[in-house]
Amino acid sequence: MKIGVLGGGQLGRMLGLAGVPLGHEFVFFDDGDAPCTAAVGEVRRLGPLGELGDLDVLTYEFENVFAAVDAAARSGVTVAPARRAIEVSSDRLSEKDFFTSLRIPTARYRPFSTQAELEQAAEELGFPCVAKTRRFGYDGKGQRVLEKPEDAEGLADGTEMLLEAFVPFGRELSIVCTRAADGQKAFYPVVQNMHSAGILRTTIAPAPDLAAELQTHAEGMIGAIADELGYLGTLALELFQLNDELMANEMAPRVHNTGHWTIEGAETSQFENHVRAITGLPLGSTAARGACAMVNLIGVDPNPKRILAIDGAHYHWYGKEVRPGRKVGHVTLVAEDSETLGRRMAELSAVI
Ligand code: AMP
Repeated sequence: MKIGVLGGGQLGRMLGLAGVPLGHEFVFFDDGDAPCTAAVGEVRRLGPLGELGDLDVLTYEFENVFAAVDAAARSGVTVAPARRAIEVSSDRLSEKDFFTSLRIPTARYRPFSTQAELEQAAEELGFPCVAKTRRFGYDGKGQRVLEKPEDAEGLADGTEMLLEAFVPFGRELSIVCTRAADGQKAFYPVVQNMHSAGILRTTIAPAPDLAAELQTHAEGMIGAIADELGYLGTLALELFQLNDELMANEMAPRVHNTGHWTIEGAETSQFENHVRAITGLPLGSTAARGACAMVNLIGVDPNPKRILAIDGAHYHWYGKEVRPGRKVGHVTLVAEDSETLGRRMAELSAVI
């Protein structure tokens, strides 16, 4: 099949790397100077969307493509996941309302755009709280923690924003699932994520010491979302764990950075399962192959020789220009047990 992908970043590149062995061809839509997907398929301009008639299916690798998804759907090409997934997740307010409608626990929230609305919202939610832009925020961009009333001064400028109660979570988790057209769902093990400055640094998979009930609970949440949306493909849900409770933070209607470990760490990667789902192939096993860690390479250009000298290390370079704060690659470490994984992680941090 010929698969179109809106976006030409590393997620698209890894989709291509997973889909080419299945016999598929890829066309990536991107307006950037040097999309890193050029190595795995044809690149076309994203806006305005040109000829789509040669595509069998169109998917996307980032959320802020609602207009393009809409245009594509109206042109008659099959879009997977369907439009509503992106409609819900491209606005934090509609996403929170959606979680609430499915009785999925999430931080208390209030929308605001004026200073008076912000003050009212802060009074209702209390401090600390977190102000976030409703649209186009990613990797912690467009959000700020408010510790006290003075931190809210002059914050509202008419932009549509959301105020959330601060969640004193113990750790951050996520779950990735792929749903097929017949409703079959393949859930990956819940993983633990470490962020700094709002950017994902490390994922440990499966999440250490996770109670079986929490895996089941997480599957129930993401499964409900996927079913409600009639979802086709791979979906991610970011979670906070507080003691024995899980709360949803946000969803991503696409393959996700916290699922990169699945390339070497699971029987079938999130990318391959996405491609299988949107092309009508049976889903593959999501079982973990051992203990695994994924470490993002952010604004650094380390020596692959030193990384690959570590047992169980797999190096992924996205072919992007290195800039501060930019994800330019990742390393996956696979080990037979968590002690060995810990030693390999220490070796890796000495190298990067
Ligand atoms: P987000 O852009 O919503 O994924 O948020 C980025 C990061 O900010 C999350 O991974 C958390 O570490 C933190 N964060 C977001 N929302 C909250 C919240 N309501 N309470 C505490 N921390 C939060």
